Amino acid sequence: MADVKELRCVIGDCRFGVDEVSYTCPAHGELGTLDILYDYAVLRSQLDRDGLSDSLAANCWRYKSLMPLAPEAKVPPLSVGWTPLYDAPRIAQKLGLRSVCVKDDGANPTGSLKDRASALVLARAMELGLSTVSTASTGNAAAALAGLGASLPEVDIVIFVPASAPAAKIAQLLVYGAEVLLIEGSYDEAFDLCLETCAAQGWYSRNTGVNPYTTEGKKTVALEIAEQLNWRAPDVVAVSVGDGSIISGLYKGFYDLRQLGWIDAMPRLIGAQAEGSAVLAKAFDQGLTAQDVKREAVSTIADSIAAGLPRDRAKALRAVRRSDGRFVTVSDAEIGAAIPEFAQLSGVFAEPAAAAAYAGLKRALNLGMVSSGESVCIVSTGNGLKDVDRARKSVSGGARVAPNRAAVEQALKSAGLI
Ligand SMILES: *Cc1c(COP(=O)(O)O)cnc(C)c1O
Ligand SMILES: [Zn+2]
Repeated sequence: MADVKELRCVIGDCRFGVDEVSYTCPAHGELGTLDILYDYAVLRSQLDRDGLSDSLAANCWRYKSLMPLAPEAKVPPLSVGWTPLYDAPRIAQKLGLRSVCVKDDGANPTGSLKDRASALVLARAMELGLSTVSTASTGNAAAALAGLGASLPEVDIVIFVPASAPAAKIAQLLVYGAEVLLIEGSYDEAFDLCLETCAAQGWYSRNTGVNPYTTEGKKTVALEIAEQLNWRAPDVVAVSVGDGSIISGLYKGFYDLRQLGWIDAMPRLIGAQAEGSAVLAKAFDQGLTAQDVKREAVSTIADSIAAGLPRDRAKALRAVRRSDGRFVTVSDAEIGAAIPEFAQLSGVFAEPAAAAAYAGLKRALNLGMVSSGESVCIVSTGNGLKDVDRARKSVSGGARVAPNRAAVEQALKSAGLI
């Protein structure tokens, strides 16, 4: 187990013991999200990078020694993480890059990267003996908590989602048997209501940017990317950004690996936001601090990255600045077009928010933020089957054919196949 040295506030120099504070820094409130830090000198002497062999769990728990959990801690049985990392030479060729790989986190049990955070938060809830866990979500964090929660008889899950979430995501929550409140408002409103209810009821809050275990769970994606590339981190990692928690998790994972001396350099993090939900991109370009960020009304087809007040804004701005990365914005049209293009070049079907990372990489190349000699990893954060209605709008074809040979021949001729 990794002994936690301290929880450190991202805003001020406030430090706490692991059992002292559950959520954010009492002095800095919601903005004062916490980093879970270890005694890296001790970990360096105890852990052997090359000893993380095939004999270890083929899921995120292969890094339990880098997580804030006791070795004997119970974890959810569903297998989260250790998702495939695919080489994508056709994307590299199309974009003129040295190499491109795709981390397919849509292959997680409930279809998104959010499973990593929910898995660790549930393990922590069991450690604390808390039986009700709740979150607000644009959909995927909720599905992750509901699905992993369904694998554990001892916890009940309560979900706050906007009623406007895609139908497949809501169906997932109900199928898993969570208590679901469809809030007739925005994600931001659902979030505030969930926080207030958790505080009033004493429920464990999984909320993004509030519970520091979410970042520690999400960091495992960075640990995996590094290990799957034989401990050579890519030059650039492209990922989409809503609340900013995933990009903060990526930063933390690579940060831990740098502290351990397991990788030589921190990748530059490129955060892709939708033009209609670009609070962090604008803050970054204007040189604002997290304190200066104001809530905005947002709108995008990429529901998973619609966030009017990004809850992990402090960590996300820091991650991009410290990694010498950038934010980019992409239009809904670019996101829509990216879904089939990315799928046809890589074989990975991404939901709109996940395809935004690919669109964002293209934008970053156009702006000269990435150069042709570099290696890039695109994190595909969610499975395309999460929102088939949106995907269907990005493709044509599928003409109807009468059930006879002549009609089939006619169809093949018009398709130019025969
Ligand atoms: C949550 C999510 C994101 C964005 O992550 P943030 O932590 O909110 O920035 C991107 N893609 C998918 C599929 C997601 O579910
Ligand atoms: Zn503080």
